[in-house]
Amino acid sequence: MTLFEKIAAREIPADILAEGTDWIAFRDIAPQAPVHFLVVPKRCIPRVGEIGAHDTQLLGNLLVAAASTARQEGLAVDGYRIVINNGPNGGETVPHLHLHVLGGRPMNWPPG
Ligand code: 5GP
Repeated sequence: MTLFEKIAAREIPADILAEGTDWIAFRDIAPQAPVHFLVVPKRCIPRVGEIGAHDTQLLGNLLVAAASTARQEGLAVDGYRIVINNGPNGGETVPHLHLHVLGGRPMNWPPG
């Protein structure tokens, strides 16, 4: 089981914000912004580079979940950033697909 599967199964504690049948949203343990949460599919896909056409509905659900949880967290008006790190050069450290949602401050571009 991956770390994020264990969080979804409540085997590891996390500050869970919202949950659907195939996804879960919880606060990042090392926040990089005033609001920083992850949206994670309950079924493990290691990274976005391994998605396929059969994942289309799940991926759509993740984006809808990110937007609805961001609204719940009060980010809708000022905006926020969604990030997916993919593989070593992308900065991915947990090999289980996840969307970072960061808000509560202006974001820089380009990212470092
Ligand atoms: P990545 O670097 O793979 O894109 O992002 C992984 C994220 O998972 C990091 O931002 C890291 O802080 C977060 N993370 C790692 N371990 C835990 C944990 O045990 N609980 C929570 N809530 N977040 C974690």
